[in-house]
Amino acid sequence: MHLLLNADLYAPGKRGIRHLLVAGEQIAWIGEEVPDLPLELGAERLDLGGRRVVPGLVDGHVHLTGGGGEAGFSSRVPPLALSRITRGGTTTVIGLLGTDDVLRSTEELVARVRALRAEGLSAFCLTGGYHLPPRTLTGSVLGDIVHVDPIVGVGEVAISDHRSSQPTLEELLRLAADARLAGLLAAKAGVVQLHLGSGPRGLDLVRRALAESELPPKTFHPTHVNRSTRLFGEALDLAQGGGVVDVTAFPEVEGDDELTAVEAVLSYREKALPPEGLTVSSDGGGSLPRFDAEGRVTRLGVGDPATLGEALAGLLEAGVPLDSALPPFTSNVARLYRLETKGRIEVGMDADLVVLDEEGRPRDVMARGRWHVRGGEVVVRGTFEEA
Ligand SMILES: [Zn+2]
Repeated sequence: MHLLLNADLYAPGKRGIRHLLVAGEQIAWIGEEVPDLPLELGAERLDLGGRRVVPGLVDGHVHLTGGGGEAGFSSRVPPLALSRITRGGTTTVIGLLGTDDVLRSTEELVARVRALRAEGLSAFCLTGGYHLPPRTLTGSVLGDIVHVDPIVGVGEVAISDHRSSQPTLEELLRLAADARLAGLLAAKAGVVQLHLGSGPRGLDLVRRALAESELPPKTFHPTHVNRSTRLFGEALDLAQGGGVVDVTAFPEVEGDDELTAVEAVLSYREKALPPEGLTVSSDGGGSLPRFDAEGRVTRLGVGDPATLGEALAGLLEAGVPLDSALPPFTSNVARLYRLETKGRIEVGMDADLVVLDEEGRPRDVMARGRWHVRGGEVVVRGTFEEA
């Protein structure tokens, strides 16, 4: 048990100074008066002295097994260790496969999810990858989502990209219909997360899929939409129509046309679009290849889960109030992916908390009731991480 005193609580809505009792993996109580707890309970008391406490970040796009591979076998990114994720304030991840769904498998991804769960993180994943027909575990997307506990949707399916399988409208509609049906049957999200490449077709396939079917706009969750101003404009239109779009917190942007996550979120806010229509993810563990005009890889970077917390701090620096900056990093992701006990700090929710420092960066991180980061130092490491 942990009794956290004098937290300036953002749930993500601003709640003011509150005391919180964490019992096991859950938030058991939140109140304004310090409770009288019997000593025998052995609750560890910690006075936060008015520091801001926010929900643990929910990252909807992480290459947990490591992504990459676009420049041969030596360019395959190794799996992400536990503390690479937690030290940036992330306590829930949705893992996925990308370009390489040949050497990497859904089996391997589900195993990585289970390993991270055993190490104290909250982890889920998507089936499939860039290509159609999708790589699956049970033989179908429907079967994977219905039967396999951590699988909540399908993705990242690539469109408008030279690395995609150039899916047709019919193929995308069938996939989305399967994902949606599976979601209904298993009370899961059933979302199709779409990787958007830099191709000029942009979100055209998504617009046509929505126009020519009964599928709700939230069935599709396009990501990397800040890779160009034109694509971002299309994404804003989709959000206006009830869709949810995902901005990638790239570690660096190239050229004038790519938007940083902070620029994209600020631009979204200016348009007064539905507040629940935007999410931000890190692409952690994914490779960030740059291609020349002939499609050859010129440079390889690796996505870092910590860019999520950096983007949040950047928004605060830009003057965005914390309570309205938080939802794209927390409650919006949890709502879309139907992670019912995630993304908010309320009684009965999982005890996933981040204490921010003065600059708005993660200082202390609690995942499922256990401190993983204290005073900026990692205190819980993954199985094979060196101390
Ligand atoms: Zn991608």
